[in-house]
Amino acid sequence: MKPTGPIPPGFAADASGELLIGGEPAGALVAQAGDTPLFVYDMAAIRTRLRQLRAAMPPELALHYAMKANPYPALLERIVSEVDGLDVASAGEMRAALEAGMPPSFISFAGPGKRDREIEAAILGGVTLNLESEGEAERALAAGKRLDRQPRLAIRVNPDFGLRGSGMRMGGGARPFGIDAERVPALVRRLIAAGVDWRGFHIFAGSQALDAAAIIEAQAATLALAGQLADEARAAPPEVNIGGGFGVPYFNGDVAVDIGAVGAALSQALRARAAILADTRFAMELGRWIVAEAGVYLTRIVDRKTSRGETYLVTDGGLHHQLAASGNFGTVVRRNYPIAVAGRFDAVPDDEVSVVGCLCTPLDRLGDQVLLPRAGPGDLIAIFLAGAYGATASPQAFLGHPAVRELLVDETFRS
Ligand SMILES: *Cc1c(COP(=O)(O)O)cnc(C)c1O
Repeated sequence: MKPTGPIPPGFAADASGELLIGGEPAGALVAQAGDTPLFVYDMAAIRTRLRQLRAAMPPELALHYAMKANPYPALLERIVSEVDGLDVASAGEMRAALEAGMPPSFISFAGPGKRDREIEAAILGGVTLNLESEGEAERALAAGKRLDRQPRLAIRVNPDFGLRGSGMRMGGGARPFGIDAERVPALVRRLIAAGVDWRGFHIFAGSQALDAAAIIEAQAATLALAGQLADEARAAPPEVNIGGGFGVPYFNGDVAVDIGAVGAALSQALRARAAILADTRFAMELGRWIVAEAGVYLTRIVDRKTSRGETYLVTDGGLHHQLAASGNFGTVVRRNYPIAVAGRFDAVPDDEVSVVGCLCTPLDRLGDQVLLPRAGPGDLIAIFLAGAYGATASPQAFLGHPAVRELLVDETFRS
């Protein structure tokens, strides 16, 4: 038997023992969506999360949503009125952000490899481009001239430090992201001299960090670096995006980020910031932390079989929808996400099984030697922490199975 991660808070069974998601039984949600496999997102859980974040963070801190974590349109439409900005990573996401109603001045577009037509779309749309290289800066200046528009440009800084203990380090050392800190002041002067609307800095040090002390350290270093770069450039940045990187507990032994501790330290660090940052708007950008726990992936068992003493529950889902739960998305060692039998959520687990998907590859394993209540064909398997980097971060076209369904439960809008 191998351990599974902790089921996120807030999930319970109804009187018959069935898992409720956003107050609805899992089976009823599948009936509503029409079939499995299905991602269900609970909007009330997302609102609760954002409320907790606001309560913990300094009141002057703007909260942005990094929409690549979950761009499902119904979710995006609702999240727009709950956050202060959206961070996008392609022209496609930018269009979705604008369509969802976020004003362009609160959208920033980061990501390496922006093509000229993406840069032009951002300039025409009034969206801030976070520049990832000096070459991109020159292309943005040229596009502004061509279009006769003043581009809104911020500089993504590759800091000389990373976020300690983060699952994905995005700063420190040589990186394809951002401009090395030591070269940033010269570029600020170049942009200002060229007459663009220089918006400031974007400093993103890493992702999926659970250790509050590491986040606090990175945020303090980020504020110090922003002050130092501004001083060297002799220009006050209108905005500084300090990144985010808050992780969620996916695996056995993981503990949630202490956001109270992070918020208290950040308040202090902001009070102690460099004089040149006195009027700067500070923003934090989070994807995973806001939406991951609000999502559940539901897949139906098609077959129960044994092979040389091991029991397999074969489902209609798999890594083509939930690559991360299969262990094939940025993890070195495969470990189990929290998993349950939806119809018997309150039953005692007494059956050791491996839950696999329907793809012809040994990589397609959603639960490896996990202990579950006994289940068989027709039963629903629930995989938790499916709200971030699921449907759009998985190779859906692999093997040509149908696209996964998605459903948002929103109590606020229920009649
Ligand atoms: C991916 C990304 C994020 C979101 O990261 P999470 O771990 O989902 O919070 C934020 N900012 C940038 C620049 C990113 O690339």
